[in-house]
Amino acid sequence: MSLAATSKFESLQVKAQCCGATVSLQDLRYGWPIAFASYVLEAANPHTEGLGAQQLAQVASTLGCSIVEIKAHF
Ligand SMILES: [Zn+2]
Repeated sequence: MSLAATSKFESLQVKAQCCGATVSLQDLRYGWPIAFASYVLEAANPHTEGLGAQQLAQVASTLGCSIVEIKAHF
């Protein structure tokens, strides 16, 4: 994480210390759901627990990029 931060996260590829494999920080399993992003969209007080697959696809299509839903509880 610190190494990726020095290049302002231009690349998320890192060498895993456990086996030397090249992996993406985005694909590692953390204690909580995480994502690396250039910006954040927030849906405050949604009426459902989260966005459905169709809504996620619509947002991704509108933005023209893939998105990751991270559920936050404040
Ligand atoms: Zn490993």
